[in-house]
Amino acid sequence: MRDRIAYTLGLFCGHMKSARFVESLAWQMGVDPDAVIGVDYRVKTPDRPASWYRARLYLANGNICEKDWWNLVDGDWGAGFFQNPACNFCDDVVAETADIAFGDAWVEPYSSDGRGTNVVVVRNPEPEDIVEHAIRGGRVDLRPVGAGFVRETQAAGLRQRREGLAYRRRWRPPAIELRKRVSSDLLPHDPRRKLIYRSRYLISLWSHRVFATSRWTRLRLLYLLWARVVLSLYQGLAYSRGVSGRVCDMFLKNGGPR
Ligand code: SF4
Repeated sequence: MRDRIAYTLGLFCGHMKSARFVESLAWQMGVDPDAVIGVDYRVKTPDRPASWYRARLYLANGNICEKDWWNLVDGDWGAGFFQNPACNFCDDVVAETADIAFGDAWVEPYSSDGRGTNVVVVRNPEPEDIVEHAIRGGRVDLRPVGAGFVRETQAAGLRQRREGLAYRRRWRPPAIELRKRVSSDLLPHDPRRKLIYRSRYLISLWSHRVFATSRWTRLRLLYLLWARVVLSLYQGLAYSRGVSGRVCDMFLKNGGPR
């Protein structure tokens, strides 16, 4: 492998979802999951902010179906629906061992640019030459930024895998040793933040189970209703949205950015 793999390319990572998420998309778009041959989780258009993306399914008959994420019952990536359990204990965000890593610039004004904007971290001189050659040739448009800027674009992911991980690792079974680079000094103190980390964890755990039950019993509404209710509770807690948000605001102070 050392001889054959010249460079590794990585993606900044929120978490990985299971294939059941695509099935859920198919259910919500009214198509047969077996007819899906391709998926684009995030279709952007220049006339809308990059964060207003759509999910798109490609079907075997050549048709395409799309739905805005905010109309999906599980349409909030950060809530953790169908998340791989390993991602709860991951301490990487920026593909740390890749020669080049690419991420989304989730910070203004870039997140309002409907075309989307990448941040790129190059860690190997040879790919760096390739990238600089491409910049000089006008094939890519990149400008130097500092580490602080890159950190700012991934603020939510870093919170989830620094403060959130420091909290989650305390729940592990005592027999399991978790060696992580996250200090316990980072533990959250705000009760609302703790509830957010707990709710993400529970959504990631129960979405698999409820969906499996829904498939087994052929009661799609079971998952769809559960997910709608859970997402609305989560968004109330995290973003003060809706009735649940007003109730949370009455009893819990706002714990800062999510
Ligand atoms: S383990 Fe970490 S890097 Fe891997 S998919 Fe999960 S969050 Fe991403």
